[in-house]
Amino acid sequence: MGVLDALGVRGHDGTTRYECRNCGRELTADAEECTGCGSGEIAHYEF
Ligand SMILES: [Zn+2]
Repeated sequence: MGVLDALGVRGHDGTTRYECRNCGRELTADAEECTGCGSGEIAHYEF
């Protein structure tokens, strides 16, 4: 396994990422607001 695989950069089926739209902090799937800035604007990306 290469470094990129370990980091998940290449992506797998159904990989989902949640990120604050305000500050870009990565959040958990069940986060209702950003743990960094408190914004409720959560972006949702699927790869
Ligand atoms: Zn934030």
